[in-house]
Amino acid sequence: MAILPIRIYPDPVLRVKCHRVEQFDAGLRRLAADMVETMHAAPGVGLAAPQVGVELRLAVVDVSVGEDASLVKVLVNPEVVRREGLETEIEGCLSLPGINDKVDRPLTITVQAQDLEGQPLELATEGFMARAICHEVDHLDGVLFTDHLRGLRRERARRQLKRLAEEQEVAV
Ligand SMILES: [Zn+2]
Repeated sequence: MAILPIRIYPDPVLRVKCHRVEQFDAGLRRLAADMVETMHAAPGVGLAAPQVGVELRLAVVDVSVGEDASLVKVLVNPEVVRREGLETEIEGCLSLPGINDKVDRPLTITVQAQDLEGQPLELATEGFMARAICHEVDHLDGVLFTDHLRGLRRERARRQLKRLAEEQEVAV
């Protein structure tokens, strides 16, 4: 397994609408394992394939950040098929270092996805895990959490993103 470099805003791969996974092979299993290791090392509670430069609909989530292996979820071609309720909590993103803000998310969701063998799976969850999954599924369509902000929060995020983009330019 390997720790992969995490793509930072404004890397254009973060704005791509990712392709569906069609090949459930050793390459996919390796990518998922590397993404789990990368997420744990960061540390973070979720990671989507475009965040490591891969334009595929694959995301990993672990709200225990490596403490409980049973909580590691690998979601291939995930779709949120039910959303209920509303909760507003602080969110951040490994691709947007230093930016955190309150984001509205559904309180409970149902996700349909496939596992690494291509078998269908369905997951009903709530609270923090529901939030993490919604955040990662957004990434697969090129959506960042700052896109959900409105009003003054959106203005502040816009300034922070601009600064982050300038820093990345200097760093390159
Ligand atoms: Zn993110």
